[in-house]
Amino acid sequence: MANNELSNGSLKGYAQLLQSKQISSLELTQAFLQRIKQYNPCINAYIALDEDKTLAQARAADARIAAGSAAPLTGIPIAQKDIFCAEGWPTTCGSKMLANFVAPYDAHVISQFNAAGAVNLGKTNMDEFAMGSSNETSYFGGVKNPWSYDRVPGGSSGGSAAAVAARLCAAATGTDTGGSIRQPASLCGFTGLKPTYGVVSRFGMIAFASSLDQAGPMAKSAEDCALMMNVMAGFDERDSTSLDRAKEDYCRDLAKPLAGLKIGLPKEFFAEGLSAEVGQVIENAIAEYKKLGAEIVNISLPNTGLSIPVYYVLAPAEASSNLSRYDGVRYGHRAAEYTDLMDMYCKSRAEGFGAEVKRRILIGTYVLSAGYYDAYYLKAQQIRRLIAQDFVEAFKQCDVIMGPAAPSTAFKAGEKVDDPVAMYLQDIYTISTNLAGLPGMSVPAGFAPSQDGPALPVGLQIIGNYFDEARMLNVAHQYQQVTDWHTLAPNLPEGKA
Ligand code: GLN
Repeated sequence: MANNELSNGSLKGYAQLLQSKQISSLELTQAFLQRIKQYNPCINAYIALDEDKTLAQARAADARIAAGSAAPLTGIPIAQKDIFCAEGWPTTCGSKMLANFVAPYDAHVISQFNAAGAVNLGKTNMDEFAMGSSNETSYFGGVKNPWSYDRVPGGSSGGSAAAVAARLCAAATGTDTGGSIRQPASLCGFTGLKPTYGVVSRFGMIAFASSLDQAGPMAKSAEDCALMMNVMAGFDERDSTSLDRAKEDYCRDLAKPLAGLKIGLPKEFFAEGLSAEVGQVIENAIAEYKKLGAEIVNISLPNTGLSIPVYYVLAPAEASSNLSRYDGVRYGHRAAEYTDLMDMYCKSRAEGFGAEVKRRILIGTYVLSAGYYDAYYLKAQQIRRLIAQDFVEAFKQCDVIMGPAAPSTAFKAGEKVDDPVAMYLQDIYTISTNLAGLPGMSVPAGFAPSQDGPALPVGLQIIGNYFDEARMLNVAHQYQQVTDWHTLAPNLPEGKA
């Protein structure tokens, strides 16, 4: 089987090949490692590879398959965002601060994949401490968008995004604090899901803004995301915000017909700021849903415009607290020379953190300070509640909400790095879901022309009510039965970084 064809398979397809012994996990893993060797030097999606560890897992998976005790993902090679601690693996969170850190234990997500017998292909590049929308804040350099090498893949899960789009893994993990699964899914043309807050344990996942951070799958299709969710989701007592709910089968509703589904279209998601070409792709997707029997309801989420200012008070506040642990004492970067303890703290942090992380620590410390707490932090928490309430009202009128996942297609590397506000606006359609704790996903819905390059992928966002992931996956899967956007992969040009 040609390498290209193999790399474009579905998780179910891989499982069938593996369990019928048409291919071994070792062969499948080696095929992906070969593609990584060929393309990663240019794309820079992976920042840690360890062939020995990866192949040992593949061999163990083959033994498990031979013993007849395979689970659905046994033997399937998965890329892990470098925000997850994985025992014995470098775990850097895209930062110089953790460039020399090797995790001594597994994050819950990693141990779930290990228990399922999946193979860890490597750790993927990301914006430093998951702060960014273009992967350009990574200490390890930017990541190329596989659809057009001069563009960004989105962020912060840019390495996982490029790895999925370039078929350098079967599927990947990401995290989404304000859009970091959905925006890159939109910019790179694959399916990504941010679950309801609390559904996937944050244990061992390096904290950015703890009340917003949530891990989820990044994969080719909704069905693949459902299979990933079956592994990732579930109660974990080591995360105090993990929800103690019965285990779900996220594949259970995939085949349900959509007749009668009520789709809410928030007028605020189609207003000024949305590229006309992206808007057209979303309209075409909605037309497809009408053909599938869905009804359209016009709704309003009146506080949408406040979501970015609220997020950029709350997320930096939480980050400034979470990142205080990097003091150069216990782990992470320590300055080579210093005069006393205070000097060691200052130099280690000044050297270890990049500019965007420092900006957020400064903002966060400011909004939490005694004199400004009520004016900024408290006010932002109050508006956060109003934003969540908008969704409660909306879900009285519809089953799911749809709109764009990002306001534009992939932009050029360097285009927004010097303009934080322009960068922050990338998440205008995704951030309110994080503030409300709701699940959201991005599904490939077509391509929009770009002025000076190839047509680029556009993602349709589907937002569901709390714990409605199975229905969202059903809604996405049915669309993927009548469209083929999710099956398209870029023709990768050769070329060095
Ligand atoms: N782009 C947003 C930020 O920079 C969201 C990042 C994320 O979801 N991790 O904070």
